[in-house]
Amino acid sequence: MPDPPPRSTSLPDAAPVHRAGFVSLVGRPNVGKSTLLNRLLGQKLAIVSPKAQTTRNRIRGIRTVPGAQLVYVDTPGLHPPHGKLGRFMAATAAQALEAVDAVVLVTEASAPAVLDPTVAAALDTARAPVVLALNKIDLVRDRTRLLPLLDGYRRVYAFRELVPLSATQGTGVDRLEAVLLGLLPLGPALYPADTLTDQPETFFVAETIREKLFLVTRHEVPYASAVRVDQLVDRDAQGPIYVRAGIFVERESQKAIVIGAGGRTLKRIGQAARRDLETFFGVQVYLELQVRIRRDWRQDDRALRELGYQLTS
Ligand code: GDP
Ligand code: MG
Repeated sequence: MPDPPPRSTSLPDAAPVHRAGFVSLVGRPNVGKSTLLNRLLGQKLAIVSPKAQTTRNRIRGIRTVPGAQLVYVDTPGLHPPHGKLGRFMAATAAQALEAVDAVVLVTEASAPAVLDPTVAAALDTARAPVVLALNKIDLVRDRTRLLPLLDGYRRVYAFRELVPLSATQGTGVDRLEAVLLGLLPLGPALYPADTLTDQPETFFVAETIREKLFLVTRHEVPYASAVRVDQLVDRDAQGPIYVRAGIFVERESQKAIVIGAGGRTLKRIGQAARRDLETFFGVQVYLELQVRIRRDWRQDDRALRELGYQLTS
């Protein structure tokens, strides 16, 4: 935590107004929460994939604008939990609704205006005002269809505000930010102005590799995989970064799939991850990947902790 700013000695009415607070993004899996977070931040922080349940941890993304700081909390989607990893993900999503200043419920414009029971129950526990982000409006050809949809949402919940938007195209995202700024309490910034996230660099690196696993492998494999960065050496500011990371799977057969014939799948994962990491860090990246088996890690408390799936406050 940064030190509080020095007390202002000027008259109260001359003191600049500053707002700061937490905003959580919740919703069903695959509605575009991580895409929206990246768009709000103007930078790719959270991983995105066409498959459901890609995000596992809570990710804070910090946006500092003149006079305000918004701390966005991206979460795993709200869905009934299965298994120990599933319970961790559901608890993480539920926790994100407590002690925040605003909640953004993300839904899709291509679906009807109904809240499923898991989402409705979660909103009932939220004490903060809830804003509806009706995402993916780019998929709706006839924009007049949005009005009855918004009316439908007004009937199912007392949303503070309803904002139609497209996270991939950016339409409506400025309006959402303006609405959220108005809901933040007065207060000093919570993080230094140039901070993008509270997660360490190693987390971002591991997530980037995991995103490529989601894109390149199919069926059960990405869900049975975890990534841990064992070494990240940043030689100096301009020099290359060296990363050594392990991809953990549950069984031999999954290991064979991740490696692929002649190591081709692993090579694709590594190349795609390296490209993204080089864009992010702005320097050359050496990436060494190893595939390892950690039997049934999704059901193993100790393995879950070691692989980064532990509840934090
Ligand atoms: P999450 O599970 O809620 O975090 O969803 P993601 O951000 O991972 O996105 C799920 C899928 O929806 C991805 O394939 C995104 O590219 C896609 N998506 C997200 N936002 C939009 C949008 O505004 N329009 C369209 N057409 N697709 C979107
Ligand atoms: Mg996500």
